Amino acid sequence: MSITRIPHTVEPYRLAAVAEHLEGTVPLEKMPRLSEAVGEQQGECAVRLQFGVDEQAQRYIRGALEARVVLECQRCLQPLPVDISADFLLGLSVGDSQAAHLPKRYDPVIVENDQLDLWSVVEEELLLDLPQVAFHPEGECPVSQEQLQSGDEIETHNPFSVLNTLKSKN
Ligand SMILES: [Zn+2]
Repeated sequence: MSITRIPHTVEPYRLAAVAEHLEGTVPLEKMPRLSEAVGEQQGECAVRLQFGVDEQAQRYIRGALEARVVLECQRCLQPLPVDISADFLLGLSVGDSQAAHLPKRYDPVIVENDQLDLWSVVEEELLLDLPQVAFHPEGECPVSQEQLQSGDEIETHNPFSVLNTLKSKN
């Protein structure tokens, strides 16, 4: 299976004018902020990008991404694969003042010198969709199973201690 890479840098206004559609991947290991946030990653982020111009002449990128990121379970500190998928709608802006006037449905992306770093854009969207905390599902985390067992112990002991309290009151 061949892997089609999304171009690293594009001229987004030109692509919007011709309603370009891009489909491909960005290697996760080429995402420095992602590595900084959750450690070095392997694999690919699958991306679909549709460039276009809306009826108000606003240039946009409508996109979707999917990736499997390996996080650390906050309970047992073991690797935890998490599937991330996200849709986004970006409004191309030449500066902050134009970005501030974008219709609300758009998230602003600042374009400098008619160039856009698509890998960085995809990385940003992926970062926005990372879960704040990650845990293995109940029953699959070694630590939660230990807690369940100790919980059982407490439950079997509790009725007796309640009983004892009642007895001593009588
Ligand atoms: Zn865990």
